[in-house]
Amino acid sequence: MPLFCKQCEGRRVPLFQKTENTSFWLCEKCKNFVDADDKIIRELTELEKEKMDKEVEDFEKDNAKFPKEKMVRRKGVN
Ligand SMILES: [Zn+2]
Repeated sequence: MPLFCKQCEGRRVPLFQKTENTSFWLCEKCKNFVDADDKIIRELTELEKEKMDKEVEDFEKDNAKFPKEKMVRRKGVN
């Protein structure tokens, strides 16, 4: 598994690709994808980058909206 980047030795994250119907591994530092054989497929596009940034932003916004309560999940007592 191409878990680590050959260029920067950073950790890669698997991202599912709808068009290819498989997961590619992204290095967030080098901004490129490799396949399961560690071959570079393509670079991260601006659109994907924006989308990822936006997801992080939304996640942080949601967390700010619901402080703590959302994190605490308690089961009812039987
Ligand atoms: Zn890298």
